[in-house]
Amino acid sequence: MKYLILMLLALAGWWLWRRLQGRPQAPSSCLPAGEEAMVACSHCGVYGPVSEMLTDGGGLHYCSEAHRCLGPGRC
Ligand SMILES: [Zn+2]
Repeated sequence: MKYLILMLLALAGWWLWRRLQGRPQAPSSCLPAGEEAMVACSHCGVYGPVSEMLTDGGGLHYCSEAHRCLGPGRC
């Protein structure tokens, strides 16, 4: 019985240690490795990878040249 309690305490300690260790290791961004950030078109709101989106000078993203010309906001 004594060993069972000791084993449970060890398990609880290990579990607590794992929980405390896991927290700071969480990446600051929630993106998995190798996956690109998705941004929304400022005109129509369609999401696409940031590398495939067009940008204007103001840091806004657009899905196409047409939407870049039309600018932010819906028609
Ligand atoms: Zn668009």
